[in-house]
Amino acid sequence: MATAGEDAPVLVVGGSLVGLSTAVFLGHHGVPSLVLERHRGTAIHPRAALVNQRTVETYRAVGLQEEVEEAAAREFVQNGAIVSVESLGGKELDWYFRFINEGVETISPTPRIFVTQIGLEPVLLRAAERLGAHVHYASETVSVEQDGDGVTAVVRPRDGGSERTVRARYLVAADGTHSPIRERLGIRQLGHGSFSDSITIYFRADVRRLMGDRNLSVVYVFGPRLQGFFRFSIDLQAGFLVVNSTTDADGTRSVRIGEDMSESTCVGYVREALGDPDLPVEIENVQRWSASAEYAERLREGRVFLAGDSAHVMPPTGGFGGNCGVQDAYDLAWKLAYVLDGRAGEELLATYDVERGPVGAFTTEQAYTRYVLRLDPSLGKENLMPIVDEAAVEIGYRYRSSAVTGAADDAMWEDPREPSGRPGFRAPHATVSVGGVERSTLDLFGRNFVVLAGPDGEAWRSAAQAAATSLGVVVDTYRIGADVADSTGSCERLYGTGTGGAALVRPDGFVAWRASTAEPDPASALADALGAALGRR
Ligand SMILES: Cc1cc2nc3c(=O)[nH]c(=O)nc-3n(C[C@H](O)[C@H](O)[C@H](O)COP(=O)(O)OP(=O)(O)OC[C@H]3O[C@@H](n4cnc5c(N)ncnc54)[C@H](O)[C@@H]3O)c2cc1C
Repeated sequence: MATAGEDAPVLVVGGSLVGLSTAVFLGHHGVPSLVLERHRGTAIHPRAALVNQRTVETYRAVGLQEEVEEAAAREFVQNGAIVSVESLGGKELDWYFRFINEGVETISPTPRIFVTQIGLEPVLLRAAERLGAHVHYASETVSVEQDGDGVTAVVRPRDGGSERTVRARYLVAADGTHSPIRERLGIRQLGHGSFSDSITIYFRADVRRLMGDRNLSVVYVFGPRLQGFFRFSIDLQAGFLVVNSTTDADGTRSVRIGEDMSESTCVGYVREALGDPDLPVEIENVQRWSASAEYAERLREGRVFLAGDSAHVMPPTGGFGGNCGVQDAYDLAWKLAYVLDGRAGEELLATYDVERGPVGAFTTEQAYTRYVLRLDPSLGKENLMPIVDEAAVEIGYRYRSSAVTGAADDAMWEDPREPSGRPGFRAPHATVSVGGVERSTLDLFGRNFVVLAGPDGEAWRSAAQAAATSLGVVVDTYRIGADVADSTGSCERLYGTGTGGAALVRPDGFVAWRASTAEPDPASALADALGAALGRR
């Protein structure tokens, strides 16, 4: 698909969680990409582990749910609790979740799962390569230029050899928190800046006795002296402890934890947080990182798009950061694919920043509020965005852009347990039967535009075909009660189509437009909505 003189249609700089996900989603839409990663392979540190329902939905749409769940099962007993304690063996303070899928089972055909970047990235790498991506490790991008036709990057092999130039039509900067590309473009960061020089201590210790029969996925430690969180390996013989702050006996608080990463200090932290001063503890590795809450003022500069931590970085409280990045990639990939082969207008690419920018900012604020309330109230509770329920942050956000028509009200998020099907929200999940096979409505989406029509909405079928033909895209049409058997009657209600209306759903599973009743001229109504959704108004 690359044209003469191009190495690939899309260059992805950064081949970690978000870069690899971008390559998978592009490949799913038939776009091969070239991924350049400075490291020599996939992640060697666990970092993200809570993979939320919306992210699993995106992997389900590209056929990866099973493989991701298998990787998850190798690493963790799934569906554990999230608690805060004074120490693992000591007093329990609060249960944020008794089990992480509590109360969200009806939202999606997918669960929240736990799998680290060590477990997940190899799955993504294999899928990306199967789908046509080329992933080059030990390859550092040292400069990026753009012109009217494309981008040119200079790549330096880390293991010797000479620099070379690569050329692509578009570039996705999935190059992490310090994003050299964002810096070079002069895109400012907004938000709360950095508030802790934190460390992650990877250790080996037998914690079975301290854990008892609890299944704890994340353990926040809010001890008298130490604040941070634990995650443990499936055999309870290893884990990591993040230390964000300490408080001395005289009440003096320190967030400069990274200044002392000596083995004896780290062993002391681990023993204290475990609540056993004598437990044998072996330190394997210590990583220093900055807890911060920041988001880029814009996510696009011409042909370059920021995604993942380069677009927004947030503290791990809530487990939102990596998920938000994967969902950036999911929004961007279909748009690039449709623009690259001419199905969509260039204007569609402007909607990436308009849609994902506010979601990144909102999600970052939610992670920051949780950090302040759970780990460091001394940062100040004034001007905090009030807590919004996790499920709404993960899956209930809304897109408002020129690619969404008829979003009449101002709501920016909703509780996905009671989805409204309004334009701009993720299309709701309902269990239906298609061709005698039980499926989720979400399984209808992922590649083409879809018209889901009410039971009396046969007129939408020819309207959809006419719009599809005139705009040169494929539109799949399903009529509730005919193509989609809906024994519970929930589809019509959830999508708000009434008996004679219809919803237009984008390839990323977001509602682009809907009619809640029959329209006098369905063909032109649908053509207008589809044209807008394709940036070809
Ligand atoms: C302790 C901890 C726990 C966390 N837990 C969760 C969680 O449970 N759930 C969650 O969603 N998130 C979590 N996060 C956040 C999550 O880890 C990040 O949001 C995620 O890793 C971001 O992925 P990314 O691909 O955008 O960036 P990164 O993972 O930082 O990857 C960027 C990549 O770009 C490469 N790169 C940079 N510059 C260049 C260059 N010039 N050329 C080539 N390559 C380059 C880097 O080598 C790197 O591999 C956690 C973070 C921490 C620190």
